[in-house]
Amino acid sequence: MLHFYYGVMGSSKTAQLLMQRYNLQQLGLKVAVLKPAIDTRAEHDIVYSRVGLQAKAEIVLQPDHSIKEQLNWLAIQRAHNDFQFVLVDEAQFLSAEQVQELADLSLDLEIYCYGLRTDFRGQFFPGSAALFRLAEDIQEVPGGLCWCGKKATMNTRVDPEGNVIREGEQVLIDNQQDIRYMGLCYRHHREGKSHA
Ligand SMILES: [Zn+2]
Repeated sequence: MLHFYYGVMGSSKTAQLLMQRYNLQQLGLKVAVLKPAIDTRAEHDIVYSRVGLQAKAEIVLQPDHSIKEQLNWLAIQRAHNDFQFVLVDEAQFLSAEQVQELADLSLDLEIYCYGLRTDFRGQFFPGSAALFRLAEDIQEVPGGLCWCGKKATMNTRVDPEGNVIREGEQVLIDNQQDIRYMGLCYRHHREGKSHA
């Protein structure tokens, strides 16, 4: 089955992925962790959570990679082909074609994708749009809060002074540019208020 666990920036998506991986491994189940190459928050093959958990991704996906080929390659490297679980971090950065591959692979595998629903303009990422179309199980990862204490639903790009940015490229990675991201409630996203 293909699962999509979506959440706003600041919800604990990656921490949840890493705990799921740990729990599966404790049971002796075979897990592969994938991440798209675009996430450069940490070393490029490290899946990293703000709360301090981290793990090495088995596969770093380029946009033109076939996930099926990559998993086959991994199975050969590991001398087994019995992955039961595939966990994907930052799944919003998958291409629609890659999500289609995951949907086909999910006939034989349990595949959990963790990612953002929308970008800083409130538009779908290609990977998220495809996951909403194709995932059989869609759940929200709770926990993201606006500064006002309400549930955060909108990913917001802000400049160093805290001004809300509404235009620009869909993907700009924080820490590399002069921007950062925060989750706001819809009211404060709409009003452009990133602090009290
Ligand atoms: Zn708010």
